[in-house]
Parts: sequence; C-alpha cells; structure tokens
Amino acid sequence: MQSRRSFITTTAAMGGTVFLPFAARSAAHASDIFATPAGDITVHPVNHASFVMETPLGVIYVDPVGSASLYGELPGADLILITHEHGDHYQPETLNALLQGSTQMIVNPAVYGKLAAGLKARSNKIANGETTNFGALKVDAIAAYNSTASRQKYHPKGRDNSYVLSFEGFRVYISGDTEDVPEMRALSQIDLAFLCMNLPFTMDVTAAASAVAAFRPRFVYPYHYRGRQGGTQDPAQFADLVGAGADVRLADWYG
Ligand SMILES: [Zn+2]
Repeated sequence: MQSRRSFITTTAAMGGTVFLPFAARSAAHASDIFATPAGDITVHPVNHASFVMETPLGVIYVDPVGSASLYGELPGADLILITHEHGDHYQPETLNALLQGSTQMIVNPAVYGKLAAGLKARSNKIANGETTNFGALKVDAIAAYNSTASRQKYHPKGRDNSYVLSFEGFRVYISGDTEDVPEMRALSQIDLAFLCMNLPFTMDVTAAASAVAAFRPRFVYPYHYRGRQGGTQDPAQFADLVGAGADVRLADWYG
C-alpha cells in the first residue's frame, strides 16, 4: 500500500496556477487538484449535483444534467455515473448530448430500467452493496436513502446509489441524495467526499457534519445545498460545524 499522503493545489479556471496554503478554501470558479499516488485528480464543480473529475483512469462525469454547453470547456466523458432518477441527477437528453464514441455509464438499477436502448447498451447497472470496475477503477455502490420517516417518499431505501471510487491510494465518496445513513457513517479511508445537504430531500448541515465526524474524509465538498421553500443549507455553517475534522472545500456550485 502506498502512502496516502497527497498534496492539494488550487488552480484558477483561467490563467496561471496559484498555490494556496493547505487549508485554504477554493475560490469561486476554481478547480481543485488532488495529487494521488497514481496521478492528479482535478475536480470541476459544474452545478448543484453535477461535476466532472479528470483522473488518471479517465474523465468521469457525475450526474450530468442541464445544457451540454455547461460542459463545453471540459474534456469529454470516458465514464458517466448516475446516482438516481431525479431530474437534478439524470436527464437523458443531457446524456445523449455528452456521449462520445467510447463513453460508458454506471447507473443504479432503477435508472437502468428507464434507459433507451442506445444508452442501455453503454451502461452497467449496480445495486446497493455491489461492485464493478471501469478499467482499473473499482466502483462500489453504497446505499443512499432517506431514513427520516417523513422523507422516505423522496429516496426509498434500496433504490438509489452513492458511489465509492477507489483509485490507487485514493478513495472518493459521492453521496448522491441520502441522509447520514449507517452505510455512509461506516465508510472508512475516504480521501475525498462529495456530501449532499438539502431539505426536505436529504439532510441538514448538522447531520452532514455529524457524518463527517463519523467517516472522517480528508477533504469534503458540501454540494446540492440550495433547497426549496427555505430548505437551503449554508455551506459556511457546515464548514464551521466540521471545524478541523476535515478540509472543507467550498466551490461555486451555483455561479
Ligand atoms: Zn433525489
């Protein structure tokens, strides 16, 4: 097992490279670079729940939705991950616009069942607790669901996925839509986490910060925190609650 140490820099989206102190928070419209034993991972937040990672094992799009022009400056997708069927995570028209010749997808079974034949032919479905591979990348599907009784109508247990991506010496957790369920809290050795917070659909900042204290990712992005009807969660408050427990990366998800 190689060392899990890595270093982080922040690169402005346009222009030169800016090196910031280790604990510095990312500026708006910036991409974070995480050095791993296998090479750099560059994270490009796009909007709400959608982001792109350039990795040593390919370019990975997560829950890409919206106009294809949002992704026009980014390299094309080798792999697309879909967590679940809601419109802020899955839009077939976006997928069709983004597909390149060799793009593959990994989806939960419910989304797989909705795919047209062309998309289905490129897709691998995995359910909660299952594992698959994309080349040398190991992908685990982790249960994502509402545990609060009044919210279970949004994300019933067993349907939707979180994902853990295991690169050589570096593990990434992508929450999708979930509360701080036991399957999340029991995660270990997560280097980088993308953690939802959004009421009433997922959880509040307090539950999200409690989860961070439990599974202790080294870096964590709060995301999809802009709720409806007063449900918006404040990522700065989340960072305060996490404190020194993790390096919280504040990105411009709604710019
Ligand atoms: Zn959802």
